[in-house]
Amino acid sequence: MQTYAGVGAAPIKARETVHHRVVIIGGGTGGITVAAQLARKGVRDIAIIEPSSKHYYQPLWTLVGAGVAKPEQSVRDEAQFIPKGARWIQDYAVEIDPDQQIVCTRNGTRVRYDFLVVAPGVVSEWSKIQGAEEALGHNSVSTNYSYELAPKTWEFIQQTKEGVALFTMPNNAEPGYTIKCGGAPQKIAYMAADYFRMHNRPVKVIYATAGNTIFTVPEFCKVLEGVCARYNIEVLTGHELVAVDPVRKVATFALKDKPGEVREIEFNMLHIGPPQRPPQFVRESPIAHQEGRFVGFVKVDIHTLQNPDYPNVFALGDASGLPTSRTGSAVRKQAPVLVHNLLRVMDGKEPDKHYGGYTACPIVTGYGRMVLAEFDYSGKPTPTIPFINTCKERFDMWLLKKYGLPWMYWNLMLRGLA
Ligand SMILES: Cc1cc2nc3c(=O)[nH]c(=O)nc-3n(C[C@H](O)[C@H](O)[C@H](O)COP(=O)(O)OP(=O)(O)OC[C@H]3O[C@@H](n4cnc5c(N)ncnc54)[C@H](O)[C@@H]3O)c2cc1C
Repeated sequence: MQTYAGVGAAPIKARETVHHRVVIIGGGTGGITVAAQLARKGVRDIAIIEPSSKHYYQPLWTLVGAGVAKPEQSVRDEAQFIPKGARWIQDYAVEIDPDQQIVCTRNGTRVRYDFLVVAPGVVSEWSKIQGAEEALGHNSVSTNYSYELAPKTWEFIQQTKEGVALFTMPNNAEPGYTIKCGGAPQKIAYMAADYFRMHNRPVKVIYATAGNTIFTVPEFCKVLEGVCARYNIEVLTGHELVAVDPVRKVATFALKDKPGEVREIEFNMLHIGPPQRPPQFVRESPIAHQEGRFVGFVKVDIHTLQNPDYPNVFALGDASGLPTSRTGSAVRKQAPVLVHNLLRVMDGKEPDKHYGGYTACPIVTGYGRMVLAEFDYSGKPTPTIPFINTCKERFDMWLLKKYGLPWMYWNLMLRGLA
């Protein structure tokens, strides 16, 4: 990795201290969207701390796992999306000192800020599932939650000619943990079931979730239960995956309603939805929740996205302690609120714009079918597309997922235009 990559700025010397008016941690969906919008509003002195030279459109990984998109379609060079004039510090943030207003990076750069936006996303905690890390990518065990492994999912689906295809969803309610796009583990179950149906394969599909329902919003839950019934998918609730034996091809689940008891299920292929949480430097920083459901996530007012203890700190996206589903669509609604409120605070005013918890999960339910689940903090459906019922499975929504949303992401959202 380079120690820096300055776009519109001088290279940083080893262990140098630099200063920027706005510093953004993370150049993913949230970080770049905010940077682009700030740049369009005339903010000039922006630095983005982002280690990766690549930018990923992660929602496409579901379609990669189902064999209808190529992994290369989900990746572009990060440099293309650093707004003109902003500095890209290509390094990992490792510590936030909000009292001194400094972010330290892995290579020893001290980045001073006047205002900070925190958007480093979440990391998969594979160590919570015994044997998973070693099994992934081999022995018919995969996940769509990684650029490298999503193509393996497709390989394993095609190789499964009979037996059991097992799909798991982690405990999304455990304090300190989450899973981004909580619909993704079931989307790939539907795609696989549809593939087995089309190819007349006697494969039993099991969807095992640690939760007590397949979807938290009752209106969508009903539709998805119908989808499971159509494919004859067996849904197991209260089943938390705790271990994988890739040699015996056995998955072990802790049973939520029988504490201390486990159940083993043999599989021919296994897709794992990983437990996730914010990176360590966020969890250990003073800007994180110290307790409660969102312990370790960035503490923010759930409407203004401002940290209550450090008013010059804002957060959005997966690492923020917002009680809504973690999606790029949520980020699209959070970003303009954050930018508006940040600009007011930079002007010495109070934040006055509110985010209502909007999130959207495009749930593909088969080849050529999709339900668009949109809802907010109230847990009620909040459809945004006029005239059509997006709560039902639709072909036009599938086209939106496959073509419309990726185009919008690369060309509008990351450019600060949507
Ligand atoms: C399989 C899958 C399917 C999905 N499907 C959908 C979908 O259909 N619709 C939808 O809206 N969303 C979907 N999502 C979720 C969506 O991709 C995320 O919610 C969104 O990307 C969150 O944005 P973010 O900026 O918080 O995090 P990210 O986009 O993940 O960006 C975080 C950035 O921070 C960087 N970073 C990490 N550590 C550090 C550090 N120490 N210092 C500095 N930078 C760091 C990372 O390199 C990364 O670039 C899906 C995700 C997956 C994995």
